[in-house]
Amino acid sequence: MKHDIIIVGGGIVGLATALKVLQKKPGLKVLVIEKEEQLARHQTGNNSGVIHSGLYYKPGSLKARNCIQGYHLLISFCQAHGIPFELCGKIVVATDEKELPLLQTLYQRGEQNGLKGLRMLRGEQLSEYEPYVKGAAGFFVPQTGIVDYRVVAEKYGEQIRAAGGEIRLGEKVVSVVQEDNTISVESSKSTWKGGMLINCAGLYSDKVARLASNSIDVKIIPFRGEYYKLKKEREYLVRNLIYPVPDPNFPFLGVHFTRMMKGGVEAGPNAVLAFSREGYRKSDINFRELAEALAWPGFQRVAAKYWKTGLGEMYRSFSKSAFTRALQKLIPEIRENDLVEGGAGVRAQACDRTGGLVDDFLIVEEKQVINVCNAPSPAATSSLSIGQTVAEIALRKIDG
Ligand SMILES: Cc1cc2nc3c(=O)[nH]c(=O)nc-3n(C[C@H](O)[C@H](O)[C@H](O)COP(=O)(O)OP(=O)(O)OC[C@H]3O[C@@H](n4cnc5c(N)ncnc54)[C@H](O)[C@@H]3O)c2cc1C
Repeated sequence: MKHDIIIVGGGIVGLATALKVLQKKPGLKVLVIEKEEQLARHQTGNNSGVIHSGLYYKPGSLKARNCIQGYHLLISFCQAHGIPFELCGKIVVATDEKELPLLQTLYQRGEQNGLKGLRMLRGEQLSEYEPYVKGAAGFFVPQTGIVDYRVVAEKYGEQIRAAGGEIRLGEKVVSVVQEDNTISVESSKSTWKGGMLINCAGLYSDKVARLASNSIDVKIIPFRGEYYKLKKEREYLVRNLIYPVPDPNFPFLGVHFTRMMKGGVEAGPNAVLAFSREGYRKSDINFRELAEALAWPGFQRVAAKYWKTGLGEMYRSFSKSAFTRALQKLIPEIRENDLVEGGAGVRAQACDRTGGLVDDFLIVEEKQVINVCNAPSPAATSSLSIGQTVAEIALRKIDG
């Protein structure tokens, strides 16, 4: 049987795309191929679980537009399907006076992105929201929320099947051949024929893109983010979500405290180079992938630019007391033995040849292939909006 659309990747972006295609054009034959035995085993299932408000992103960028639209679509989806979520709000904290200009800029960016009800807080007002936080100033973002993205992704899967879509688990896509109007996709178990391929392979999106063509000029650099958990008896130190002011030169938000929808409070994630794309432990090394990353000209430039920040992150990865000190900037009362090891996630960050860490979402269209080449945070929040965008591109191509 020939499918109209084959999607590689059963993470939240691939699933949202399949769902949107089926909603826009019921009856189309859609197949999702996922290499793991379950959906959402990688970025989607190992993230902070935050429903981002759209605060951080450059106005007009794909991230800003898709985050804000995706936010509303996600909340409606959760409401319609009884998925638990909470819009608990978060505070962003400037821990010392030097960060005040950046805090102000971030606040203005939030307003430019249309956020209503942001509230600037003097140092002593922070405790109205988070009694144990200390800082020079901060602001409250009422829109931010929490959800379990694994539960969301499973529900997308359920809806895809209910709409007649097919999901194949435990099949790794290993080869793609384009011939006339048909794409042959060979997996570890079968060969599938399709009219179009959509690549949502996350940490392997560059590799899958290169199976189909050579025109992609970015490489995925994996950054592991490690978490600690607050011991149960110290969870009272955090009510909801507490974020630092991010370093504007680094694409990650800095270690923060997050109350999780499934219970508990996480602290993290840091950002260290992962020596394997799906390397969740420090000891996980894939020499081939590591060598490929180190040999990429863009990576060498990234290393030259960020070596100091990178070393700090590495140090915090190996030293629990250094990690604790970073957290104490936000909550001075935190002690090293309040923290127990949590899990880790690996972020897929596209890096171009000239050393740019691609900031925005990146969707690259070819004749019969659409590649989602960069879908880092807030792509879970934005998933239904990204899915809608990709579905529209695909249907436009199908309709000629
Ligand atoms: C530590 C961390 C914290 C984050 N926090 C947040 C947050 O709080 N809020 C937010 O909105 N976003 C957050 N993000 C970002 C968000 O999780 C990701 O942007 C999003 O999950 C990306 O989804 P995806 O479907 O593109 O990738 P993935 O979830 O990684 O899915 C890709 C899938 O493709 C499959 N695959 C790969 N290669 C093949 C192949 N050859 N054949 C078949 N299948 C293949 C993989 O097995 C995987 O399941 C965070 C990410 C991380 C890592």
